[in-house]
Amino acid sequence: MANALGLEMKPVSEDDPAEVERVKNWINTEEYKEKNFARQALVINPAHACQPLGAELAAHGFEGSLPFVHGSQGCASYYRSTLNRHFREPAPAVSDSMTEDGAVFGGQANLHEGLENAYTIYKPKMMPIFTSCMPEIIGDDLTAFIKNAKNKGVIPADFPTPYANTPSFNGSHIHGYDAMLLSILQTLTEGKQVEGRCTGKLNLIAGFDANTGNYREYKRILEAFGIPYTFLADISETFDSPLDGHYKIYPGGTKLDDAADSINGKATLALGSYSTAKTYGWIKEGYSGKHAVMPMPFGVAKTDAFIMKIAELFGKPIPESLKAERGRAVDAITDAHQYMHGKKFALYGDPDYLLGYVSFLLEMGAIPYHILCSKGTKKLEKEIQALLDASLDGKGCTIYMNKDLWHLRSLVVTDPVDGIIGDTHGKFAARDAGIPLFRFGFPNFDRVNLHRYPLIGYSGAINMLTAICNKFLDIKDETCEERFFEMMR
Ligand code: SF4
Repeated sequence: MANALGLEMKPVSEDDPAEVERVKNWINTEEYKEKNFARQALVINPAHACQPLGAELAAHGFEGSLPFVHGSQGCASYYRSTLNRHFREPAPAVSDSMTEDGAVFGGQANLHEGLENAYTIYKPKMMPIFTSCMPEIIGDDLTAFIKNAKNKGVIPADFPTPYANTPSFNGSHIHGYDAMLLSILQTLTEGKQVEGRCTGKLNLIAGFDANTGNYREYKRILEAFGIPYTFLADISETFDSPLDGHYKIYPGGTKLDDAADSINGKATLALGSYSTAKTYGWIKEGYSGKHAVMPMPFGVAKTDAFIMKIAELFGKPIPESLKAERGRAVDAITDAHQYMHGKKFALYGDPDYLLGYVSFLLEMGAIPYHILCSKGTKKLEKEIQALLDASLDGKGCTIYMNKDLWHLRSLVVTDPVDGIIGDTHGKFAARDAGIPLFRFGFPNFDRVNLHRYPLIGYSGAINMLTAICNKFLDIKDETCEERFFEMMR
């Protein structure tokens, strides 16, 4: 056997080619699928990341904010490299690099040294602190450690250090995002509520969303209404800043003063109830003005609901430009409907995104046939089922909660579909099944610029249907008989 350089290599073990072939075919059978679905104590290729990764995304959404990982260096590298590969932008964050001695004696010394160094070298305006698994397992007391750091003068007493416990053996990246955002807002708004004061602004919370195009789309819609807003937390510049020859460690982010004043807002709207549950629960109790939470605006119906909610919260008419956009989206859907109608899909991803995919597909007359979430709940299952029950195209679709992408592989090879909607991790299953993967989720490492194309709003619906329908048409052109190779499709 030769390696990529043409050099002879001796394999560690030899496999019988006939046995390899037998197993290769066997894993595509119903018999194997049954065994695969009986699996209990092992997860293979889960469709979610760990809590601290989500915490880091939230921390990046504020002005001058330096995410600080209390825990292992390797874990911090994983979150950073995942964000870095998805956005193709730097993800500046620091870690106090706990090792064996930290695991035995506790991580306070690491935390203090790390805070002092990071504060002195990188001059942030805020350091949101969150944990990897190791300090969570040994039970490090972040509250006491941070208080001691300030008492010792390691960092100034008034320096904002919101912190969140983000144990990865619980929940997923969306829960870490929620916990970190909650702590940042609790820290920044402390003592800032002023009786009778109203900023006149909308506080918009996008939840865990790694599509910078979506953030710009939300802003564009609010600007069309003429509604002033504070985005909590705004990663659109942090991970999509212009290349102008100068490196900025903290591009963009929500201004800390604006975040602090958000408690006096006119209204707060959270999108994606699953990744903002704790934050929204706290805001509802403590923030001035009106509050609402609703699904992410995927597809026409959910975008209509979003736009009408904004109009209602601010007592404003819907701008003509948005009405025209809606009309264009409906036209685009009508033009493309024939290419998606009746097509079956397998979908996986975060709960808020999944709800959006299902709505969008049903609007297009497509069938969300296998729906899989690797960190789902009964509530999510019910919500998805209600969407399916409301449509004729929802009949016969199945929801798989707390299953992974190896389960998904069994599904798509034994009960085929026309395409998969998810993120880069699904490419192995898509390849084995010989069907396209539409990379709308997070993370996407193997295609460029996808995070710049909005998926929400009317233009998001057009982007999604364009990507899907044109891929199906490409496949038709590539695979059809010569006599059916047509100019018109
Ligand atoms: S799951 Fe735990 S050990 Fe693994 S990267 Fe996340 S924090 Fe680190």
